Amino acid sequence: MSDSKSAASDARSEALHIDRRQLFIGGAWRPASGDARFDVFDPADGSVLTDVADASVDDARAALDAAVAAQPGWATTAPRERGEILRRAFDLVTTRADDLARLMSLEMGKTVAEARGEVTYGAEFLRWFSEEAVRIHGRWMQAPAGGSRLLTVKKPVGPCLFITPWNFPLAMGTRKIGPAVAAGCTMVVKPAGQTPLTMLLLAELMAEAGLPDGVLNVVTTSHSGEVSAALMADPRLRKVSFTGSTPVGKALVKQSADQLQRVSMELGGNAPFLVFADADIDAAVAGAMIAKMRNMGEACTAANRFLVEESVADQFASKLAERMGSLRLGRGQDDGVDVGPLIDEKAVAGVTALVDQAVGAGARVVTGGSAPDGPGYFFTPTVLMDVPADADVNREEIFGPVAPITTFASDDEAIERANATEYGLAAYVFTRDLGRTIRLAEALEFGMVGINTGLISNAAAPFGGVKASGFGREGGFEGIEEYLDTTYVSLPAG
Ligand code: NAP
Repeated sequence: MSDSKSAASDARSEALHIDRRQLFIGGAWRPASGDARFDVFDPADGSVLTDVADASVDDARAALDAAVAAQPGWATTAPRERGEILRRAFDLVTTRADDLARLMSLEMGKTVAEARGEVTYGAEFLRWFSEEAVRIHGRWMQAPAGGSRLLTVKKPVGPCLFITPWNFPLAMGTRKIGPAVAAGCTMVVKPAGQTPLTMLLLAELMAEAGLPDGVLNVVTTSHSGEVSAALMADPRLRKVSFTGSTPVGKALVKQSADQLQRVSMELGGNAPFLVFADADIDAAVAGAMIAKMRNMGEACTAANRFLVEESVADQFASKLAERMGSLRLGRGQDDGVDVGPLIDEKAVAGVTALVDQAVGAGARVVTGGSAPDGPGYFFTPTVLMDVPADADVNREEIFGPVAPITTFASDDEAIERANATEYGLAAYVFTRDLGRTIRLAEALEFGMVGINTGLISNAAAPFGGVKASGFGREGGFEGIEEYLDTTYVSLPAG
């Protein structure tokens, strides 16, 4: 092995050196039943990075037992104390940002610089909800007819199950853990099988911050469906928050009916990115680079369909293609790399099929267009022009670095085309016209609309979708409500 290769291998082993590749249940690290384990892979070359405990249904039930046991004590812990634990967790995550970023980059593929950005974003949910923990209000009012007094009391919903995806291994966890901890709920977290390591390190930091045993439990498993079905069949579980694909979300909503658990669903997206002729085109291209290329396009908020007014379409396409074509692909931990690999071989095959179908239907490749030779699961950043509106790439979530451009001739056409999707998570609009901005913000059927920006995620804002993108909000003042039930108390006036 050359010196540089062996140094890279040492850095990788060091980054992976977390003692805790076990289940975290009731404040203790323990192996799965029968010491079962499953492998975690490096998407940059397909090799095995390490392995983690493979929880059985019984192990998951033990985690729920721990969450249930911890619930009464946690619910009655002073809000200030809950908030201060979250604040310490924010500090610890921030202090360990480099370790978390490197680990995330290894298991998920994104560049270390992007992963640092995710640490900053993910940590903000701990800080924001540390501040919200002490602002859980009830109300006192006189009944309209006089006489009685109406009081409301907010209470934690109880033990929760959190199921998170691989694309943002830290932030999709803290968006749920932060408000749940603040509200006084306990939880079982099941991270994605492809990226469990970041969540295990986060669990270690949460414990170090002083979170009592059993409040946060983490089960890694290769039997996601069985484990979640068993937990959701248990009447002690009171809430399920899921971030992932729409088909799995729909299945979980159906399962939640048996025990009538509360559910929050953060599902897929198909974001339109609208560029009007009056827009600052350079700013639109800069916004497009963020909205499209954040996380290699593997984001639910990723710009999926570029709808550009006819007169500026060629200009926008050539500027975007120039930026996209200059990005350097490579291992996320290497210097000078802009774009890491996709998560797995299936992802590359899916993106390839979408591009091939569009080209077969008449789209023109302006840059990119295919996957480079291996190893690793890379796809070259791609811009397509003249994409038919009904091409698969416009109808499905791409989850890769492909920007399909179609044109529109009027505001009404732009709005109609933007809304012509089953999804409703994020939309982006570039225009300088204030009247149009207001009209679009109101007419677009999406949970989030970015005006002249490609980055909308913010811990202080309510993140979430409508239609097939799900329901419920994470972040903002709204985020904590997902974890609170309301008890109404009626009092005679005396
Ligand atoms: P996924 O296949 O739905 O998986 C998400 C999580 O669900 C993983 O932990 C997975 O575990 C688990 N899972 C899979 N099948 C399950 C089942 N039958 N029962 C219970 N759990 C199950 O989605 P993904 O491919 O990881 O993530 C990409 C999707 O997430 C995209 O559609 C993206 O748009 C969406 N997303 C949405 C948001 C949002 O906030 N709206 C944010 C990020 C991502 P395994 O890993 O073991 O399969």
